[in-house]
Amino acid sequence: NTFQDLGLNNDLLQAITDMGFETPSDVQAKAIPILLEKETDLVALAQTGTGKTAAFGFPMLQKIQIDSRTTQGLILSPTRELCLQITNELKQYGKYCKGLHVVAIYGGASITEQAREVKRGAQIIVATPGRMKDMISRNMVDISKIEYAVLDEADEMLNMGFYEDITDILSHTPQDKSTWLFSATMPKEVANIAKKFMKNPIEITV
Ligand code: AMP
Repeated sequence: NTFQDLGLNNDLLQAITDMGFETPSDVQAKAIPILLEKETDLVALAQTGTGKTAAFGFPMLQKIQIDSRTTQGLILSPTRELCLQITNELKQYGKYCKGLHVVAIYGGASITEQAREVKRGAQIIVATPGRMKDMISRNMVDISKIEYAVLDEADEMLNMGFYEDITDILSHTPQDKSTWLFSATMPKEVANIAKKFMKNPIEITV
């Protein structure tokens, strides 16, 4: 079981080698082939530390159009720390994807600076729900053309009271995108989100 077997391209394989990853983790081995092969919604039950950032990050990096500056991928995560961590990981994974721009959007930092970064063009935005909603309402960001939406640590986001913000954000995205939901647990609230916003998701558990 190797990263080559999963169908990843050479830019990503080179970055994987540089990082010293030897074998795909369980969630990566399960999610990556599915997400590369088809446009599908996905619900993945996975704890933190299982390599889930790469499980959604590699397929997203491979599928987006890097020669376009349109925002095609949106990742929502519960905290500023996680948001920055995901952004840094994606930049590492995409270090050979020439022209890739990943922007982090989170509260407690200058909104004008973040808006400026977004305006330069970012194929991927990693955001906390509150700041994201704020920037949408101020027309500082356009997510009307995204193809991939990730709800990371969905249970945590709902625990933190982000249900309304998530609903509002998703209402500004196209119907025909793919949504990938990752959660450590599957309480009723998470199942409801999946039911409300996702179409026949493939389910994986690690
Ligand atoms: P995550 O669960 O995505 O937060 O990842 C946890 C940590 O494991 C991160 O520091 C990753 O860089 C690292 N990691 C992810 N996938 C692999 C892998 N296949 N082999 C070794 N380390 C990995």
